[in-house]
Amino acid sequence: MSNHQFNLNLFDTTVKKYCHFFDVASPEHFSLQQWYQVLAEGSLDYVYATAPVTKNETRHVNYLSMEFLIGRLTGNNLMNLGYYEPIKQYLTQYNVDIADVLEQERDPALGNGGLGRLAACFLDSMASLGQNATGYGLHYQYGLFKQSFVQGKQQETGDFWQRDHYPWQTFNPSKTQNIQFGGRIKQIKDDKYAWTPVLTIQGKAFDLPIIGYKNNVIQPLRLWQADNDQSFDLNAFNDGKFLSADKHIVNAAALTQVLYPNDNHRAGQKLRLMQQYFHVACSVADILARHFAQGYTLNELAKRQVIQLNDTHPTLAIPELMRVLLDEYDLSWEQAWAICTQIFAYTNHTLLPEALEQWDQRLFKTLLPRHFVIVDKINRLFQDKVRAQFGDNPQVWEKLAILFDYRVRMANLCVVTCFAVNGVAQIHSNLVVSDLFPEYHQLFPTKFCNVTNGITPRRWIRQANPQLAKLLDDTVQGDWTKDLTLLKQVEKYVDDASFHQAYFRIKQHNKQVLADEIQRSIGLTVNTDAIFDIQIKRFHEYKRQHLNLLNIIATYQQLKANPNMAFTPRVFVFSGKAAPGYYLAKNIIHAINNVADIINHDKAMKDKLQVAFLPDYRVSLAEKIIPAADVSEQISMAGKEASGTGNMKLALNGALTLGTLDGANVEIAEMVGEENVFIFGHTVESVRELLAKGYNPKTYYNNDPVLKGAVDFLASGKASNGDKQAFDLMLTSLLERDPFLVFADFASYFTTQQKVGEAYVNQAAWLRSAILNTARLGMFSSDRSIQDYQRRIWLK
Ligand SMILES: *Cc1c(COP(=O)(O)O)cnc(C)c1O
Repeated sequence: MSNHQFNLNLFDTTVKKYCHFFDVASPEHFSLQQWYQVLAEGSLDYVYATAPVTKNETRHVNYLSMEFLIGRLTGNNLMNLGYYEPIKQYLTQYNVDIADVLEQERDPALGNGGLGRLAACFLDSMASLGQNATGYGLHYQYGLFKQSFVQGKQQETGDFWQRDHYPWQTFNPSKTQNIQFGGRIKQIKDDKYAWTPVLTIQGKAFDLPIIGYKNNVIQPLRLWQADNDQSFDLNAFNDGKFLSADKHIVNAAALTQVLYPNDNHRAGQKLRLMQQYFHVACSVADILARHFAQGYTLNELAKRQVIQLNDTHPTLAIPELMRVLLDEYDLSWEQAWAICTQIFAYTNHTLLPEALEQWDQRLFKTLLPRHFVIVDKINRLFQDKVRAQFGDNPQVWEKLAILFDYRVRMANLCVVTCFAVNGVAQIHSNLVVSDLFPEYHQLFPTKFCNVTNGITPRRWIRQANPQLAKLLDDTVQGDWTKDLTLLKQVEKYVDDASFHQAYFRIKQHNKQVLADEIQRSIGLTVNTDAIFDIQIKRFHEYKRQHLNLLNIIATYQQLKANPNMAFTPRVFVFSGKAAPGYYLAKNIIHAINNVADIINHDKAMKDKLQVAFLPDYRVSLAEKIIPAADVSEQISMAGKEASGTGNMKLALNGALTLGTLDGANVEIAEMVGEENVFIFGHTVESVRELLAKGYNPKTYYNNDPVLKGAVDFLASGKASNGDKQAFDLMLTSLLERDPFLVFADFASYFTTQQKVGEAYVNQAAWLRSAILNTARLGMFSSDRSIQDYQRRIWLK
């Protein structure tokens, strides 16, 4: 029996209490916004009142991430608690549809994209599997910016998500920390230093409950918010010349105001480094406090705790824990280092050089003088180890050094310290060893492993696609929500006519729902009998939305030249944001919007070819788009996408992947079978050969009239009111360098797209493939990822 079994009378009493609060005679007068508040606050009280306090003896996972892209919580929490259906029923007496109430919630957009969403899926899975864990992040006042389009161009506005009134969070004053910056240090003896900082910033803890799926587990996502400390001394701050140019951050509360809007790109600014240190210093102090409060000693720290670093953003936790152990607990260097090398594990998320974090040494030293001394010593001791293995080899040291060329390299500090380093899909983990860290692999052969990413089936099937969930409930023995591999039972029905019909009806229903959303959002009416071809993700050159665009233009030109040719109608759907400073990616967005405008206004294309770009991509929009997809565009340049998780969400919901052999696409293709995916383009190996020969994009442009036609269309001004330079940023890059091999993959992509169109005509065969995608992809549950982390890293 669940402790928080839904109690209708209690809920009814809670609801009635709000009448007083809202000053209305009865709940009939509640607005949707007020109902939202009642549902969230009402069940939160209830959750904390009934949550059991248990001491779990297994190693505690501390998941440190600068981003948690949690999406709306109310529907998900009610579902995991088992309250969703009874509350939905309860609301009908007031003629209220629960779906309308849940639409009132603003997504807390505390992340950029895949990395932050992964952290959210992992928290859900850890709670649902009973893995005791705490998520540690930052309580940004402004989430990722809101995106709109003005004449096709991206506009950004602040996402003030009103964290102060967010009903799911609880201020936890007992957890407040004081975090210090700058100043001077003085050596006391050996490795013990006294630090006189010049700035103290208070860290306040805000807890959000992470609720396991119907298992009574509640554990915190703890987000730190900066505030002015009482003792803040403005004079010391100025006298120390500390950050004297940055008067604007004298206001400490500004530290956690904004999320940096970069995805797969390092930020580099002083404020970002301060955010990183603030995040890990609050978290490390909290981990130690909890450890001691549970009655454990320092000797047991690494045995009882593991600190998982989600990319290098929380790397400063390493020198911070060293500092605390050396200076506050008086441990020797060897003792402190032994703990650090057993407690930290690092997840690598990218091979892109522009995303690997490095900090200017002078900045680092000014902000964190004590930490610099520690990193310097780690670096020197490591140099001895490198010499012992490789001799005095400057080329090797140049690659492996933590401190080099006046920079602090965070990935190197992680690999040297952590007991485990994992990539996020098999191909990516192989490349981490072979391309990024080969010498490290020689030094530490057992550190490296793979944990392929996953997604939570609670949000991405049960919540996002309730009709499919119902069909699976009716078809599968056992609870697939808890064990997604049970979906393989669906294979039995792959040729069952009534299952086909049910599955098809659900897809058509979801396409109609998306069509309504497209109509509401951008005023475009789309043909729901067409193939819904979907590319939703951050805009980045390596993800190659421009390859998709070139195919759309080429297809449009083909249809204009041969109006009667056989063609399966297609709706192309895009959604995604570009970092505000990433002008080339914004140029691609502009081009897609303008080409969409031309095609959508061309009467000859009616019900044949349409392009819908939905603004402001976010978790709640993804939940509407994904169930409606027929084709999932996963077209990154091979070797560049570490894993991807959008590919998993789409395939599980019955979209056929059109992709390169990159990231988790490789494993998706293996699981589902090559006849049920569309693979095209260069592979990691053939990319290597092509680049070795010397790649010249102009050759492709000059020799392929279809490609040339599409590129020339963009350069003609036809899609930009005669402005021939409008898309120069993108076109010059493609024609001069094409660093992500768009032209080299165009012909293969164009041909494969035609095969997709032909394949859709055979509806029975297409449905069969779609059903097999749902049936065979159970391994992409984030529950399996967490079990891999347990077996390979945390509980090994
Ligand atoms: C899943 C998800 C992503 C990641 O998508 P990829 O295609 O793997 O890059 C990004 N943003 C949101 C809102 C998501 O839900």
